[in-house]
Amino acid sequence: MQLYNTLSAEERARLIDEAGKERLTLSFYAYAKIEDPKKFRDDLFIAWNALDALGRIYVAHEGINAQMSVPADNFEAFRDTLEVYDFMKGIRLNVAVEQDNHSFLKLTIKVRNKIVADGLNDDTFDVTNKGVHLRAKEFNNLLEDPNTIVVDFRNHYESEVGHFEGAITPDVENFRESLPIINEQLQDFKEDKNLLMYCTGGIRCEKASAYFKHQGFKNVFQLEGGIIEYTRQIKEEGIESKFIGKNFVFDHRLGERITDDIIAQCHQCGKPCDNHTNCANDACHLLFIQCDECKAAMENCCSTECQETIHLPWEEQVAKRKGLQVGNKVFRKGKSEALKFKKSGNLPDAPLAKAETKDIRQKIKVKKILIGKAEHYYSKSKIAQFLIENNGLAVGDKVLISGPTTGDQEITISQIFVNGAFSEAAKAGDQITFELPFRVRLSDKLYKILDSENA
Ligand SMILES: [Zn+2]
Ligand SMILES: [Zn+2]
Repeated sequence: MQLYNTLSAEERARLIDEAGKERLTLSFYAYAKIEDPKKFRDDLFIAWNALDALGRIYVAHEGINAQMSVPADNFEAFRDTLEVYDFMKGIRLNVAVEQDNHSFLKLTIKVRNKIVADGLNDDTFDVTNKGVHLRAKEFNNLLEDPNTIVVDFRNHYESEVGHFEGAITPDVENFRESLPIINEQLQDFKEDKNLLMYCTGGIRCEKASAYFKHQGFKNVFQLEGGIIEYTRQIKEEGIESKFIGKNFVFDHRLGERITDDIIAQCHQCGKPCDNHTNCANDACHLLFIQCDECKAAMENCCSTECQETIHLPWEEQVAKRKGLQVGNKVFRKGKSEALKFKKSGNLPDAPLAKAETKDIRQKIKVKKILIGKAEHYYSKSKIAQFLIENNGLAVGDKVLISGPTTGDQEITISQIFVNGAFSEAAKAGDQITFELPFRVRLSDKLYKILDSENA
């Protein structure tokens, strides 16, 4: 019986594209008492693998926490696999607003000590003694109450791009740090204030609310289903969003836009921007916010040091890393001296700019034709591979590479490698590669720009 992944991410992405079926990105969690997490894990793997379900899932004695991508056609069958367990009967599945067939490319189910790393000794309090669950509308009403204190239980890089109006946004890297900080800060308000809490999908608040009740807070409320469910409800019921900006998510999209307000700044030039990215220097991989201009100028790097590093021959890059405390370990997650405009802690509520809507983008008239799609990106050598499906491409042509994560990137082709040899031109059916300073995603579209005039 197969209990682990056998396909690479690339192979999986190709299969998904070939199948051409819509997939749903969803998440759910449940606290429960699970006697044998290992067996639970194996049973889930067998059931889900058969349904072509993918994702990142943690199981523990205390429950399950799952982020997944499921073929839309198998959605009901998938739900049936959950209904088998008493503690997941009728469970709500948070379906993401924006769909992306490549949100997860593997099925990874891990057995952990906890489904949320909270640093808490659960024996000291009852985790099932949770706060009052609120729907979007009730949450909005309580936000209006002057007697309410609203706290964001996410990390500094999550709240930086989007949060509820007036929320306390602790300058923390993880959930574990935020509990004592908030407890300390709100010592004097235990009796008479409403403590209103929220997080991405509700899982962190579920525990936090039990913890704060145990600490003596009398009026504890939590946003049920977190920002994800809130967003669904405000859309469905036509309620005003009190959440401003983007909801940070942990798949490769790194964020879902909730309102068109941009409340963050490019960490390098300070202009309004809320697009997270990872530094292109693989040894660094720092998570930070970078605007399109800085991305182009800095080649998707967080610092000039990283930019110099990516131009070194690969062997030198590896040699440079040896014995060094590099990468994420150098920085606090998402923090670096190199980032002048990084904000955390007290965050502004006032939007700095409005995000461009699709309509505005369409006003920029670019005459272009679709000629192919991305097949691979060799990040170590910064080489992108495309399949030409239509028309052709020649050295000197201007192209647009476009995709949900890549955005719209224009470059001029200076050299192409066609079916294994340098060539001046490529035609339909050719597989081509060329150097590209930024990562492309599978199935990013390749357009040839015929003539561009900015209206
Ligand atoms: Zn910038
Ligand atoms: Zn870097």
